[in-house]
Amino acid sequence: MEIACLDLEGVFFGEIWINFSKTTGIEALKLTTRDVPDYNLLMQRRLRILKENQLGLPDIQAVIDQMEPLDGALDFINWLRERFQVIILSDTFYEFAAPLMKKLAYPTLLCNYLEIDGNGFVANYKLRQQDQKRQSVQAFRNLNYRVIAAGDSYNDMTMLSEADAGILFCPPDNVMAEYPHFPVTWNYNELREAFLQARNGL
Ligand SMILES: [Mg+2]
Repeated sequence: MEIACLDLEGVFFGEIWINFSKTTGIEALKLTTRDVPDYNLLMQRRLRILKENQLGLPDIQAVIDQMEPLDGALDFINWLRERFQVIILSDTFYEFAAPLMKKLAYPTLLCNYLEIDGNGFVANYKLRQQDQKRQSVQAFRNLNYRVIAAGDSYNDMTMLSEADAGILFCPPDNVMAEYPHFPVTWNYNELREAFLQARNGL
């Protein structure tokens, strides 16, 4: 049995921070892991902007509550779960992801934590470990699972590289150009096909 490791934002949902940027009108919050390779730099910048604008966890959660899975995402994950052990590996936070997981019928999610102060403001973020996507794939492979991974952004590339097979899903041009050796898929039918092909090729 193979394990399928998938990113969350950009694969099953749109980007949380882009939605939050649209709702708040704060243009600077638009940048995501699709644009910025250094995740820590990106998060520090986000926290600074939240602080400057006096925005807290409830403000972000209110936006996330309104987010729906991408068209076909639920059917796709149900299909995948019948054929693989499915794990979502995300650099988002459990405090954000709960309502999203409900809409995907609660797949297993490995991600990070936020530190929230007494007033509901985001004080800091806590990565369980550095490069957790890569570490997770490595751990599964140490357990003698074969891993097929799919994602769209810079922060997925170590996961894809570490896996037995990696697949890009709707990547931005910059990521596609920098990682030309991964097959690219543009919709869930192509992604289904890529997973089956990857398994046949293992
Ligand atoms: Mg993503």
